[in-house]
Amino acid sequence: MKKKIVEFKNINKSYKDIVAVKNFNLEIYEGEFLTLLGPSGCGKTTSLRILAGFEKPSNGDVYLEEQQINEIPSYQRPINMVFQNYALFPHMNIFDNVAYGLRQKKISEEVIKSEVTKFLSLVKLEGYEKRNIWQLSGGQQQRVALARALINKPKILLLDEPLAALDKKLRKEMQIELQNLQKNLNITFILVTHDQEEALSMSDRICVMNEGNIIQVGSPNDLYDLPINKFVANFIGKSNFIECEIQTISEKFIEINFNNKLLNLNKNLINFNQNDKAIMSFRPEKLKINYDVSLKNGLLLKSKVLNKIFLGEYTEYYLSNNEIGEFYFLNTNSREEDKKINPGTEINLWIDAGDIILLKNN
Ligand code: ADP
Ligand code: MG
Repeated sequence: MKKKIVEFKNINKSYKDIVAVKNFNLEIYEGEFLTLLGPSGCGKTTSLRILAGFEKPSNGDVYLEEQQINEIPSYQRPINMVFQNYALFPHMNIFDNVAYGLRQKKISEEVIKSEVTKFLSLVKLEGYEKRNIWQLSGGQQQRVALARALINKPKILLLDEPLAALDKKLRKEMQIELQNLQKNLNITFILVTHDQEEALSMSDRICVMNEGNIIQVGSPNDLYDLPINKFVANFIGKSNFIECEIQTISEKFIEINFNNKLLNLNKNLINFNQNDKAIMSFRPEKLKINYDVSLKNGLLLKSKVLNKIFLGEYTEYYLSNNEIGEFYFLNTNSREEDKKINPGTEINLWIDAGDIILLKNN
C-alpha cells in the first residue's frame, strides 16, 4: 500500500493580479520520484516553494503525513531544496558547505566528520573536502549541493531544475546518478523541469502543468501512450493530429468519420458523444513504410517528403499529405530505407487504427 506523504489541497497562489497556481490538487507518495513538468512560467517553482514553506498559498492547504503544515516555518519542515544555481556558500570549502546543516543542529564535530565523508562519497566527491567551491565544475558543484541537502536526511528533497545549467552529456550522467541516489536512500524526490526527456527518463510519475493548472498526472508510459489532450500529446514527445467526427460508440470501439472514411478506434478514458468533433493523434514513430495491405483498419497516407533530418538513432521526416496536411514520421529501423527517401520522394505511409489515440478537440 502506497503511503501518502504530501498532499496539496485546493491550492491557489496569486501575486497581485498574476495567478501562478490554480486549484492545485496533488497527492505524492513516500519514496516516490515525482516530477512537475511544464513550460516556463506554468507555476512549478511556486508549487515547490509552497511545499518548502518559502511561500504561503493564497488559499488551500498543504499536508505532510496527514498534518496540515500551512503555518509551519520552512526550517521546521523535514524538507530540503536544491536549486539550479546550486546556491553554495562561496566563502566556505566543500567540507564546511556539506557540514552546514549539521553544525546548525550543534552536532559533535566527530559525527559531522564521519557524516560529511559518507555523503561526499555518496555523491562521488570523496577526497574533495578541502577544495574551494570555485575550483569545481558545474556538475561537481551540483553534487556538493546534493550532499549538503541529503546530509540533513530530509523526508523530501525538492529539486528545482537542478541540471539545467549542465551540458547535455553531464546532464544525462547526473540524471542516472540522481535516480540511483533516490532509490538507494528511499527519500521522496520532487523534481521540477521543463525538459520532457528528463521527466520521462527519471520519474515514477509526472505531473504535467500548464498556465498554473495540472493537466494530467501519470507514469511516463501512461502519459506517452494515453495523453489526455493535445497539450500533453505535444509536450511529451511529438504527435500528429487529424480532425475527425465521432460516428458511433460501441462497447469497445469508437467509430470515427474522417473525410467519409470510417475507422474503428480503441476507447480510452475520455468521454465522447455521437457527432462530437474530435482529434486523432498518433506518434510519428508509429507510421509504417512497408504496410501490410491486409490491414484494413487504418489510414493510408500518400505523402510527399518535404524535409529529412538525420538524428543518429533515427531519421525524422517532415511530409505533406493532401488530406491531413503536414505531419512527422520517425524512421527508427532501417538505414537502407532512409537512403531511398529524400525531399521530393513520394511514399505511402500507413497508420494502424490501433496506434491512434482519440482526443478532445480543444
Ligand atoms: P515556473 O517555475 O513553472 O517557470 P513560476 O512558479 O516561477 O513558474 O511562476 C509562475 C507565474 O507566477 C509566472 O507568471 C511568474 O511570473 C509569476 N511569479 C512567480 N513568482 C512571483 C513573484 N514573487 N511575484 C510576482 N509574480 C511571480
Ligand atoms: Mg521555475
